[in-house]
Formats: sequence, C-alpha cells, structure tokens
Amino acid sequence: MSLLVIGSVAFDSIETPSAVREQVLGGSAVYFSYTASYFTPVWLSGVVGEDFPQEHVRLLQSRGIDTAGLQVVPGAKTFYWRGRYRPNMNDRDTLDLQMNVMGQYDPILPEKYRSCKFLFLANGSPQTHLRILEQCPGASLVVADTMDHYIRNEPEDLRKLLKKIDGLVINDGEARLLSGEENLVQAGQAVRAMGPRFVVVKKGEHGALFFSQFETYVLPAFPTPQVVDPTGAGDSFAGGMMGYLARQGDFQPKTLKEALAYGTLAASFTVEDFSLDRLKRLTLEELDQRMVEYKRMLSF
Ligand code: AMP
Repeated sequence: MSLLVIGSVAFDSIETPSAVREQVLGGSAVYFSYTASYFTPVWLSGVVGEDFPQEHVRLLQSRGIDTAGLQVVPGAKTFYWRGRYRPNMNDRDTLDLQMNVMGQYDPILPEKYRSCKFLFLANGSPQTHLRILEQCPGASLVVADTMDHYIRNEPEDLRKLLKKIDGLVINDGEARLLSGEENLVQAGQAVRAMGPRFVVVKKGEHGALFFSQFETYVLPAFPTPQVVDPTGAGDSFAGGMMGYLARQGDFQPKTLKEALAYGTLAASFTVEDFSLDRLKRLTLEELDQRMVEYKRMLSF
C-alpha cells in the first residue's frame, strides 16, 4: 500500500555528553522515510533550501524513496535544529531552532501523492498537516506526530487536527503537556479522548504505551547497551510502525501490535550511531534477527 510522509528535512547539530556533530542530515521525514523503506515504498513530501546537498537526496533515493514531493526553494535555507542531550541520554534541550524554509511552507502535493492510502504527518506545523489532509481525501489510515513546540504555539490547530486523524504518536513529556495529566495512563487516555482512535506514547528507553478504546498495553524497548545519539528514535519508531502497516495493508489490533514491535526495533538501531549512520548499515536480516531476540525476551 502507498505510504506518504510529510515532515521536516533538516540539518541537525547534536551534542551528547561525549561528542558533538555539526550539520548532519536529520529531520522527522528523513528518519521516518528511511526506516519505513525497509518495509514498503515511501513517498516523501518536505521542503529544503538551496543549501541542501544533492548527496542527501541521492541517499534517500538509494532506498527507493520517492522524492518528487521534496520542494527546493531557491535562495532559502534548510530547516536547522540544534539539541543537547543530558547525561541520561533521554532528555534533551533545544538550543537553536531555525525554521528557515519551513516557516512559509505551503505544501502542494504532486498529483500521484494524493491517492495515498497510508499517511504519516511527521513533526511539523498542525496547520500544514490540516492542509495536507485536504489533499489526501482517500487515505484510509492517517497517523500524526507532534511535539512541545506545536503544543505550545499552535494549540487550536492541533485540537482541530486531533479530531481528523486515526492515530497519534507522541512522547511521554508531550502527552503530559497536551493532556495536563501527570500519570501516563491517564494522559494517554485523555489524549485519545481528544479525537484519535489510538494513541502511542513513546517512553524512550522504557518503550511505548498503546491506547485504544479496546485495549491498553505496553511494549518494552529493546535493551541496547550502546546509545550514541537518540535523535530520530521517535521518527524511526513511527517509520517502522507505519512501514509495516502499509506492507501488511491493514491495521487490525494484531497487526498494530506487530507494527509497534517493528517500530521499537527500528528505533533501537537508530540510536546506535549519529544521524542515519547506523541505519545506512542496517540489513533486513539484522532487523529480523533482533525480532527473534525481542520475541524470546517477551515470552515467559
Ligand atoms: P525525534 O528525535 O524522533 O523526536 O526527532 C528528531 C528530529 O526532529 C530531528 O532530526 C530534528 O531535525 C527534527 N525537529 C526538531 N524540532 C522540530 C520541529 N519544531 N519541527 C519539525 N521537526 C523538528
């Protein structure tokens, strides 16, 4: 099934307690599409400036990602984000955020993209997400992500969006911020009551919680001893999850749970190196092998 993602395509500067990387390839749509491409063909929609190197575009294309929807704006600069991780490698602070070309982005999807069946609205403005939804009337599964920046700055559009989507993937801090509830189970349920049929709350190294009308469950993270850079873990989680759903072509409860497991494992690889560096070396065999270990871990 066709899978479309819209989100940020970025330059990231990352500071961890032991290393710094300047201006590496990042962005929610980049991590998402790269991971999802292990499962299904992906169509990417986003915007970059003139400074975005062709080699990054070629890297995405080398995984079969369709970049027809990647707009290049002459004379403009690409979105830039700088983050610093705290010693626990879970919490991070945004040190700099330059929307640049994303600031005035009004996406017009290529004709082909409008027929997509599975749609992921990765981190980006809820206002933009609403405009994308209007262009994809036939999507059978729409899942979105959001973050503190948009919860604080665009709360009304976000509320509107929540009423129009099937699923929401957010992290624990965002779920608390959005719901005003401290307890994560209550927070997840409160966010679901805002509109989506299901909500996934990511808890970093502690895994993810799933909420629907019928069930609530938790899946642990895969215990990776080597966390080099957690950036993109959430987007890779979503890419693994949506990629698997699109490959299976359904979103029954059983398929959703398997999809969450694949998302969990995709994220566990992403954090093992900076930017896309670990994903670039990832093989499907490694992913499947980790799934075998993960299943063994979960059975008792
Ligand atoms: P994650 O670690 O999965 O939450 O996502 C990290 C990615 O989100 C980075 O590669 C950033 O470029 C991107 N990002 C950070 N802030 C924003 C924002 N306000 N809007 C869109 N993308 C962002």
